[in-house]
Amino acid sequence: MKKFVVALDGPVAAGKGTLGRRIAVQFSFAYLDTGGLYRGVALRMLRSGDALDDVAAMVSQASAITPADLEDPELRAEGTGEAASVVAPRPELRAALLAYQRNFANHPPNGAAGAVLDGRDIGTVVCPDAEVKLFITASAEARAQRRHAELRGRGEDIRLEIVQADLAKRDARDSSRAASPLAAADDAHLLDTTKMDIEAAFAAARQIIADRLND
Ligand code: C5P
Repeated sequence: MKKFVVALDGPVAAGKGTLGRRIAVQFSFAYLDTGGLYRGVALRMLRSGDALDDVAAMVSQASAITPADLEDPELRAEGTGEAASVVAPRPELRAALLAYQRNFANHPPNGAAGAVLDGRDIGTVVCPDAEVKLFITASAEARAQRRHAELRGRGEDIRLEIVQADLAKRDARDSSRAASPLAAADDAHLLDTTKMDIEAAFAAARQIIADRLND
């Protein structure tokens, strides 16, 4: 039976992860943070001393990714996210990670009835037939403040201006690349969380999904 897929796309620190996890719990769906796959490849490359433009190394690291890589505490570090956005434009890497993501969507673990995937190109490329597509945005200032608070909370000593500059660089890279750029699908619901707290954003997303489930 076709699984119910929720595609959750948007720029860095728009709140996709928090929202995705909440949605997954609410509807008993499986959750995949696809950014973690790109981060996992980048982290493996950094640790192996691979050049970040070495396409063969990228593809080989992608095939070697294990669930333990996705639990690595360094995965969420700012430097890892930055390196991920440097390798992510390569079509060879995107192709190497596509099957894993589609397989997760079509056959979610533990027999779940649906899957939530968060990323940049889920509604446009990975799961163009997703039952619900949400595009989550927030102003650059709001996102920088959230990411700054998150990094500080994890003990990373970093100034807000640096986070702001990193975010702008990453947004530009993710939006301007030729392969699967960050973009809202034509049929995506737009959710601007600049002035919304997580409860309000979750309530809006939950309603959209519940309506579609009851169709
Ligand atoms: O979402 P997160 O910040 O963890 O993603 C890290 C980087 O991975 C992004 O900046 C983006 O370049 C890349 N990415 C991507 N496609 C996805 C998910 C993440 O290109 N579906």
